[in-house]
Amino acid sequence: MEYFPPALEALVEQFARLPGVGKKSAQRLAFFVLGLPDDEARAFADAIVSAKGSIALCPVCRNFTEGEGPCPICASSKRDESTICVVADPKDVVALERSREYAGRYHVLHGVISPMNHVGPDDLHIKELLDRVSTGDIREVIMATNPTTEGEATAMYLSRLLKPFGVRVTRLAYGVPVGGQLEFADDATLGRALEGRREM
Ligand SMILES: [Zn+2]
Repeated sequence: MEYFPPALEALVEQFARLPGVGKKSAQRLAFFVLGLPDDEARAFADAIVSAKGSIALCPVCRNFTEGEGPCPICASSKRDESTICVVADPKDVVALERSREYAGRYHVLHGVISPMNHVGPDDLHIKELLDRVSTGDIREVIMATNPTTEGEATAMYLSRLLKPFGVRVTRLAYGVPVGGQLEFADDATLGRALEGRREM
């Protein structure tokens, strides 16, 4: 058992909570932070506190936004209100925006249905999506969850819920290999995936 002073141990434990960070990496990150000049360490801590204090979920699409009220995409009159692209995570919005091929709105689920990880439909922002489709003037909902088993199952589940509203439900035509991830697809691939989307 390695011994660290309690304050250092606490820092290591916080890093070890981050997704994909094991104990060894957490130690390396903690040592890195300790090696920072005071002002840089403070800027690091401040960024966490200030993001936590000012970032909220958009009341419409549930994407991250700063302050109260709709996010810039939901607030923009230039975006097509009648199309909603459903993604699992905020980082997928970033990937699709980067491709510059999509001019509609989004809906962020914050995960996919995953029985293995105990994530059920009620843990995701599905009810908000149904509310939007039932009350808004929505013509098409594009399922842009990743082409993984869980992403496909989530898209199928949502498609069954959405069809009774008489809305067109489509799925991205992935040039992305099965099991691949949206965020790592290059812009041209994402553009083609959007263009070639098919009915579900
Ligand atoms: Zn929004």
